[in-house]
Amino acid sequence: MQKQPDPSWIEKLAQGLGIIPDLSEQETNEIEILAEGQLSHFPPPEKWDDWVEYEAKDWSKKKKRHYSIIPTSCFNCESGCGLLSYIDKETGKVRKFEGNPYHPGSRGRICAKGPATINQIEDPERILYPLKRVGKRGEGNWERVSWDSVLDDISDQIRLALEEGRNNEIAYHVGRPGHEGYMDRVLQAWGVDGHNSHTNICSAGARFGYAIWDGSDRSSPDFSNADFILLISAHLESGHYFNPHAQRIIEAKNNGTKIAVMDIRLSNTASRADYWMPTYPGTEAAVLLSMARIILIEKLYNHEFLSNWVNWQDWLKKDHPGTKITLENAIEKLIEYYADYTPEFAEKESGVPSKMVIDVARKIGRAGTRFSAMNWRSASSGNLGGWQVARCLKFLNVLTGSVGTQGGTLPSSWNKFKPTLCSEPPSQKFWNELHFPNEYPLSHYEMSFLLPHFLNEKRGKMSVYFTRVFNPVWTLPDGFSWIEALRDEEKIGLHVAMTPTWNETAYFADYVLPMGHSSERHDLISYETHAGMWVAYRQPVLREYARRQGQEPEFTYQTNPGEVWEEDEFWIELS
Ligand code: SF4
Repeated sequence: MQKQPDPSWIEKLAQGLGIIPDLSEQETNEIEILAEGQLSHFPPPEKWDDWVEYEAKDWSKKKKRHYSIIPTSCFNCESGCGLLSYIDKETGKVRKFEGNPYHPGSRGRICAKGPATINQIEDPERILYPLKRVGKRGEGNWERVSWDSVLDDISDQIRLALEEGRNNEIAYHVGRPGHEGYMDRVLQAWGVDGHNSHTNICSAGARFGYAIWDGSDRSSPDFSNADFILLISAHLESGHYFNPHAQRIIEAKNNGTKIAVMDIRLSNTASRADYWMPTYPGTEAAVLLSMARIILIEKLYNHEFLSNWVNWQDWLKKDHPGTKITLENAIEKLIEYYADYTPEFAEKESGVPSKMVIDVARKIGRAGTRFSAMNWRSASSGNLGGWQVARCLKFLNVLTGSVGTQGGTLPSSWNKFKPTLCSEPPSQKFWNELHFPNEYPLSHYEMSFLLPHFLNEKRGKMSVYFTRVFNPVWTLPDGFSWIEALRDEEKIGLHVAMTPTWNETAYFADYVLPMGHSSERHDLISYETHAGMWVAYRQPVLREYARRQGQEPEFTYQTNPGEVWEEDEFWIELS
C-alpha cells in the first residue's frame, strides 16, 4: 500500500466542508506498471486471499471491500479462458468475474461471456434443485427430490440393464463437453459404448478433412508468428477458441501480418482482413485448389518438405505407371491434374475476382513455412462435401511446408495436453450401432441426428438416456422427431437431462439435474488455443472459499447455490 498524493486545494475545501473524507488518511493499492503489451495492473496472487478494492458503487466515500480471489476457468465456450472470481468476504458470495492474466491461452483477456458468468449464477430462473417429472412426460409438472433418491433410482436402472446385457441401452449424449472426457472413462468402466455427441452437425466435416492428412482432426495455427493468415471462419468473433485466437491474430496484424478471409458475409473478421474473399457457399474448395495450382506452377512450394514428408511416390506409381519417380514429375502431374482449376474458373465458381485469387496464392506461397490457416465449421459443415474445404486448405499448408512450423499451422494434438493415466478401464465389448451404424463406415463422429429415426425403426432402444448440456429438440434439424422419441417411454425408458438451465429437451425429461456453471464445478481442460500447451483447472470457487475458511464440504452441491451439483462427483457417486 502507498500513501495518496497531497490533496489539491479543491479537495481540501471539500474535506473541510465534510463533502468527502480526509484523503490524507486514505491509502491506495499499489499499481504495478508492466511492460508494453501486458495488462498494466491486476491483483498479484500473493494478495488473492485478501484483496481490497474500493466499493465500486460508493467510490467517492472510498469504502473498502475485501475479496477472496479464486481462479477458475470459463465454461461458456471451448476456449476455457482463465477467470478470477471475486468472493465478497462480507457476504460470502461471488460478486464478479474478471480475466486471469496467468492463464496462458487467454492471458487475462476475456470476451463478454466470461464476466457474464455472474448473470448465469444469479439467473432467477435457473434450476437449483434436482427435479423429477410428475404426470406424463412433457406435461411440465415437476417435484423437487433429493440427490440420494436420484442416485438410487438411476443407478438401479443402469445396474439392471448391465446385468441383463443391455449395455447398448445406456447412452450419454453431450453437447458442449468443455472438459477432458472424464465421462468417457466412466462409460468405459461401465462397459458401455454409450458416448454420443453433437459433432456430426458441427465440426465433423472439417475434422474429417484434416484427419485424413495426418490423423490430427483439427489445426492449431501459430497466428502470432505468421507472415500470412487465411481464415475460413469468423475467428475474431466466433468459432472455437475465438478469443485466444482473435488476440493473436490482431497482434500479428499489428506487426504487419496480412490476412485473407473467405466468407460470404462481411463479418467482423472479414472487415479486418486485407483480402476479403466472399466465396459463394460451397465453392471454397475450388478457390483453394486454384491457389494450389498457382503455387505449383510458380514453384512456390516447399521442395524439402514435399521430399521428406509427402508420399507422392505411391500416387505416381499408381496413377502414372512408367513415370520416373521424382518430385519434379509428381509436381508436373499434379499441375496436369488440377489443370481445370484456373483463377478464371475459381472466379466463375466463387465470385472472387481471379486477380485476388492469384494475389492471395502468391502471398501464401511467399509466406512459406509461416502460413497460418484455419477452417472451423462454417464452410465445412452443413453441406455435402464440406469436408473437402478443410482437406484443400491443409493442402496449401502441405505445399508450403507450413506444417508444425513457427508461424505455420500445427496439428492440434501438438498443443493439447493429454494425460497418460496410471490405469485405464478395459475396453467395452459392445459396439452401439445406434451411434455408429454399419451403413456409414466413414462417419467421423456419431451419427447422432439419426438416433430418433433408429429408435422409430426399432433398431434399438434407450433404457437410460442422459442428455448433458445438449438440446437436440432445438439444435438438431428435425426437432419434432426428437420430441416424438422423447415422449415415447417405449423408445426412451428414462431420460435424464443434466443442465444448468431450462431448455426444450429438458422439458421432456424424467429427471432434470442442475449442473454447475464455470465457477461451480471441477474439470480439467486443455485446448490448442495457440502454439503452446497448457492444462487448466476449473473449480467450484465457493467450495474452495469454504476450504479457506477451514471447512471441508463433502460434496460441491453443499456450497453451490441451491443444490446445484457437478458432473464428476455425480458420476462417481452414481457408479
Ligand atoms: S472466449 Fe469463451 S471461454 Fe473465453 S471468456 Fe469468452 S466464452 Fe469464456
